[in-house]
Amino acid sequence: MAENDTNKDYSCMDDYDPNSILPDEALRRIFDTISTITETESIPIRETLGRVLATNITSEINVPSGRNSAMDGYAINASDLPSEGTNTLKLIGSSFAGKPSDIKLKKGECVRIMTGAILPEGSDTVVMQEIVEVSGDHVSIGIDTKPGSNVREAGEDLAIGDLVLEKGMRLTPADIGLLASLGLAEVHVFRKLRVAFFSTGDELRSVGEVLDNGAIYDSNRYTLYGMLARLGVDIVDMGVVKDDRELMDKAFMEATGKSDVLITSGGVSVGEADYVKETLLKHGEVDFWKVAMKPGRPLTFGKLDSTYFFGLPGNPVSVMVTFYQFVQPALKKMVGERSTMPVMMKVPCISKLKKRPGRVEYQRGILEQDETGRMVVRKTGAQGSGILRSMADANCFIVLSLENNGVQPDDLVDVQLFHGVV
Ligand code: AMP
Ligand code: MG
Repeated sequence: MAENDTNKDYSCMDDYDPNSILPDEALRRIFDTISTITETESIPIRETLGRVLATNITSEINVPSGRNSAMDGYAINASDLPSEGTNTLKLIGSSFAGKPSDIKLKKGECVRIMTGAILPEGSDTVVMQEIVEVSGDHVSIGIDTKPGSNVREAGEDLAIGDLVLEKGMRLTPADIGLLASLGLAEVHVFRKLRVAFFSTGDELRSVGEVLDNGAIYDSNRYTLYGMLARLGVDIVDMGVVKDDRELMDKAFMEATGKSDVLITSGGVSVGEADYVKETLLKHGEVDFWKVAMKPGRPLTFGKLDSTYFFGLPGNPVSVMVTFYQFVQPALKKMVGERSTMPVMMKVPCISKLKKRPGRVEYQRGILEQDETGRMVVRKTGAQGSGILRSMADANCFIVLSLENNGVQPDDLVDVQLFHGVV
């Protein structure tokens, strides 16, 4: 029985394997084992997209640097706003963005001002150009403007000393813009992880090879490549390794100690597992878990020298599910990222879902708006662990708990997005 869940009644769960551990427990054990890398590098901000910040960034300047106009119009002092009717002010000059004027505004005066231009001394309000009447150097203003309107205060976006970005954030386009607005040309990020992977199986052929009788094309290396590329790691593709003791041994030797992480797929079914196990145990400390999940039950995790090892199942959907549930959070933790788990939400499911109690299921779903505009999820077609199409059609997992006994249309379900919301 899973250690962290002793008060559950498993006797009525026909899909439950008492030798299995829960997905949460598997992830906890992985997190307990791995540590965050310490090496950082300083790189130009354009190259920081998707990289993880290694320091807090605090602002050393005010953004914007001075009080400026949010509109094209006329800068005035609020005391010249009429309480009724209109008030006519004398136009004494202009202020443009990047060309501040040294005018000092006196009672009854105004200055033509453009968006982004610094407010002249003595002004505190901007009246929009659309609501004034101009005649020569006289500007009539009405009652529609409130004191302080259309003004951006100095430091309104970022003030001196503000914590702008926190260590451990994965940088987005907006973050890069923030860094630029602080005038920073370079920032410190954690170095990239190096991740090696190979597929195992005599039946596998790489794209470009002839598909002889009984052979299939290797798809796992390509899905792994895609998922790893998205995470911005350095990728080492080691190809296909045959189901052969010596070749397997050689491949493990080659990867061990040279990458931060090694990922393999396949070779963990009964029959094959024995010599993979033998090879692995020769090279390091490795655990073989049965995880109470579907798809993706067998999972191997451990450390070979300085390299963390994930042995994923062979079925194409199982590879993706176990990658998203275990490998991706682990890689995020290793590279110093604070937020490691995918975005979850609860939404109504409009499909009927079959499910037996005893395993956590990751069914493939399409999260979308229905005709009334509310977010709902429906399942993709056939859910077999070999049906990669179910992943390609999906944009999320529908996560069904161990106890869940099926879903009726309109039941609320937990949905885990494949990608973030930003
Ligand atoms: P295994 O765990 O090696 O027995 O693989 C389980 C199933 O997944 C078998 O049907 C394999 O043919 C299939 N499989 C294993 N590796 C791959 C791969 N790289 N690409 C596509 N299918 C695979
Ligand atoms: Mg195999």
